[in-house]
Amino acid sequence: SRQSPDESSEHWQHARRVSVIGAGIMGQGIAAANVKRGIAVSMSDMREESLLAGISGVVREASYNKQTKSVDAELAIERSALVDAALSDAELGWADIVIEAVVENLEVKHQLFERLERHLGERTILCSNTSTIPISQLAEGLAHPDRFCGLHFFNPVRKMPLVEVIRGKRTSEATIAAMAYYARRLGKTPVIVNDGPGFLVNRLLLPYMNEAALLVSEGVPIKDVERAAKDFGMPMGPITLYDVVGLDTCLHAGGVMLEAFPDRVVPATIVERLVEAGRLGQKNGRGFFDYP
Ligand code: NAD
Repeated sequence: SRQSPDESSEHWQHARRVSVIGAGIMGQGIAAANVKRGIAVSMSDMREESLLAGISGVVREASYNKQTKSVDAELAIERSALVDAALSDAELGWADIVIEAVVENLEVKHQLFERLERHLGERTILCSNTSTIPISQLAEGLAHPDRFCGLHFFNPVRKMPLVEVIRGKRTSEATIAAMAYYARRLGKTPVIVNDGPGFLVNRLLLPYMNEAALLVSEGVPIKDVERAAKDFGMPMGPITLYDVVGLDTCLHAGGVMLEAFPDRVVPATIVERLVEAGRLGQKNGRGFFDYP
């Protein structure tokens, strides 16, 4: 049978090892997705305790048995052989694919890339899981921007099938094809999108969530907004989604959208006020709703 162009991507024939930098929420989810598919992962984090917690989180997630609702001990032993801590940048660079999932800060990511790039293999593809920073801006200063792209997973990675493969100005088509193929190897659904504020998903989602928060500030009961969205077919209401994603994260991403499209977005100030009041969402037990 005819091979699809992605499958003929020579890169993947060699891509057997992945490095994940940043062992937080997203780094763990991405690493676990690889381990579940038998792909070995090297992890790193600037904080040793985050790295250790991250690695055990990955093993737990990759050997969780949904039926028994517990970790399968045998599987855990098997899976733990697939995840290790990278002890140096050189070790990270040996991978076929390096995925950056550190804090959302351009300066931090630039410094990391500058340090790392000299250790990358000749064919290694470097990706960023950034939610809001333009890929072309992240690529500035790279010696090989053709082998750099965005690979935007969604939280929680184990549940969310979509992955945005983001094409920067200088990303090569081979890189895009290889990463789309890789995303499918992980059991995900890649969507290839252009660089730009909000990429694709957040351009749809953030205005929708913002409008929901505006309705609430206009006095529409939260339960009505939630019920309308759910009965319309959304898996959860937009207000719950704020709490799941984190109000601070939404506020930051909303700011990026506002800057890019000032004529289109009327920001719901209620979100800012909740963040100021320390209500960040499910992660700290209180957002729009309380989580006792
Ligand atoms: P997080 O805070 O849970 O984890 C970030 C980790 O990076 C921390 O463990 C931190 O110690 C580490 N770190 C920070 N600077 C580092 C450096 N220079 N080198 C090595 N490690 C470093 O954050 P997260 O939610 O996992 O987000 C990571 C990235 O993924 C961000 O770019 C974020 O925008 C993006 N993202 C987040 C979500 C989400 O919903 N949380 C969704 C999609 C994309």
